[in-house]
Amino acid sequence: MSRKQGVRPVVVAIDGPAGAGKSTISALVAERMGLVRVDTGAIYRALTLAVIEEGRTDDEAAACLGALDLRFEGGRCFLGTRDVSDEIRTPEVTARVSSVAAQPAVRAGLLSAQRQLGRAHGRGAVLEGRDIGTVVFPDADVKIFLTASAEARAERRLKELASRGVQSSFEAVRAALIERDRFDSERDVAPLVQAPDAICVDTTGKDIAQVVEEISVIVRDRLAALQ
Ligand code: C5P
Repeated sequence: MSRKQGVRPVVVAIDGPAGAGKSTISALVAERMGLVRVDTGAIYRALTLAVIEEGRTDDEAAACLGALDLRFEGGRCFLGTRDVSDEIRTPEVTARVSSVAAQPAVRAGLLSAQRQLGRAHGRGAVLEGRDIGTVVFPDADVKIFLTASAEARAERRLKELASRGVQSSFEAVRAALIERDRFDSERDVAPLVQAPDAICVDTTGKDIAQVVEEISVIVRDRLAALQ
C-alpha cells in the first residue's frame, strides 16, 4: 500500500535504553509531525502498579491483564477513573516493571493493545518502548534507536526524579539504569535490541531541540522516500 493513497497511518518506532530521552523526544517529534505519541512503557508500568496493588507476584502479572482498565487521555494515564500518571513512575513501580515486562504471557497479552493504539489515529503514531521496531511494529515506516552514555542518562534521570521530589544519588540512579537495561536486554522474549534497520541516534551531549530536529529530518526523509 503506497503512502500516497494515504490509507495506512504512519508508524514511527523509537526504542532504546532507559533515560535516553525517549519520552520527551517522542512527544515533541509527534507534536511536530502531527502524529499521536504512544508511551508503551506506561502500559507496562500501569500493569505493574495493578500487580503491586493486588498483592500479586511478578510471575502472576498476566492474571491482572483481564481487569486492567487502562486509558490514555490528554497525555495522562488512567486506571479506571483514577489518574495514575505519577504513581506509575514511583521507584517502587520502576524496581518491578522489568520483571513484570519479562513475563511472556504479559508481552503476548499486551501486543494487540499496542498495535491498536499505534493504528488508532488517522495520520499515525510515534511509539516509544523497547521492542516497537522489532516485535510490535516490525514493518514500522521509520525506526530510531535512541541511546546515550550511561552517565548522560543517569544525569537526566536524576534531574527528572528531583523535579518530582524524589531524592537519590547519581551512583544509585546510574547503577539502577544499567541493571534495568541489562535485564531488558537479556530477557528471552522481545529483548531490548536495536533492529537491524533502525537508525541509531546518540543523544549524549545534545540538547532536546537538536535531537528533535535530527529525528524529524530522518522521519521526513524516510516518509518522502516511501511515497
Ligand atoms: O520506558 P520506561 O522506562 O517507562 O519503561 C519501563 C519498563 O517497561 C522498561 O524497563 C521495560 O522493562 C518495559 N518495557 C518493555 N517494552 C516496551 C516498553 C517498556 O519491556 N515496549
